[in-house]
Amino acid sequence: MKPAAFTYHRARDVDGAVDLLSELGDDAKIIAGGQSLVPMMNFRLARPAHLVDVTALPGLSGISTDEEGLHIGPLTTHRAVETAPDSLLGPDHAVLREAMAWVGHLPIRTLGTVGGSLAHGDATAEWCLLAVLLDARVVVRGPGGAQRTIEAADLFLGFYMTTLAPDEVIVDVVFPRPAPHCALTEFAERAGDFAAVAAAVDLDLAADGTVRGGRVALGGVAPAPVRVPEAEAVLQNGGPAGPELFAACAEAAEAAIDPPSDADGSSDYRRVLARTLIVRACEEAAAR
Ligand SMILES: Cc1cc2nc3c(=O)[nH]c(=O)nc-3n(C[C@H](O)[C@H](O)[C@H](O)COP(=O)(O)OP(=O)(O)OC[C@H]3O[C@@H](n4cnc5c(N)ncnc54)[C@H](O)[C@@H]3O)c2cc1C
Repeated sequence: MKPAAFTYHRARDVDGAVDLLSELGDDAKIIAGGQSLVPMMNFRLARPAHLVDVTALPGLSGISTDEEGLHIGPLTTHRAVETAPDSLLGPDHAVLREAMAWVGHLPIRTLGTVGGSLAHGDATAEWCLLAVLLDARVVVRGPGGAQRTIEAADLFLGFYMTTLAPDEVIVDVVFPRPAPHCALTEFAERAGDFAAVAAAVDLDLAADGTVRGGRVALGGVAPAPVRVPEAEAVLQNGGPAGPELFAACAEAAEAAIDPPSDADGSSDYRRVLARTLIVRACEEAAAR
């Protein structure tokens, strides 16, 4: 399958990319790794007349830390995160590295980027789920050099829809706080497929192993990744990190969600998957 004809543009800097997007209007799209956009173009689900290639933009790739938190450049590939050394991604963010094993296959991880994943806004994408769980901030640049920060909670509107404007470029992704007891797990029909349901948990553990609170996020149960306050309330009540607490947390989530039914599974199936995966994620997070 081949995409409809388009004109290719290569941007040399961020403002140049924004100018091109502004000039070309709704018919233009950024292309980064192309691992979501190109399949959509091949299936004629997207027919942009212009592609603005951002892969040559300087300074938008790499991992660093400062007082704001952990910064991941939007052009950083999934594979670069997966293979990042401890000096860049220590135990406080090990979940980001480990979650990459769930993203597609090696060739997809080698080309696909963090920014592309967030901009694409798939409800089961690992980056979208982790961003919502860990309160990531997505920094974007728009016309006139205007820069704004979008909290992950405000980024995802629904099926492949985000609050990014068509002429905004993601220039930074910030994970503001450490998450040493965090885990992501999921279930897909075949290895490398998008998850039917994905669960991510970030536990607040006391030194004696008692749970003091935590966050729970699910992908694949709603049009966008969601936090589950009912499950988090169970963790907030606290208790020993073990089967009883984790089962109660998972059951609260199962009762709270109302997943869609589709070709990948019925609503009930996804609800049961969510319960099972939350327990598994809690166990993995506590074991860190
Ligand atoms: C077979 C297959 C399996 C896959 N499995 C998974 C999976 O299990 N989990 C998962 O998360 N992903 C999966 N993917 C998708 C993959 O992770 C993509 O890499 C990712 O979704 C998009 O990144 P990209 O760099 O390829 O973006 P592109 O495809 O180039 O672009 C995607 C969208 O993001 C926009 N965009 C890109 N960069 C920016 C930027 N800096 N600022 C603003 N907008 C931008 C583009 O305009 C476009 O709308 C899979 C893909 C395939 C083909």
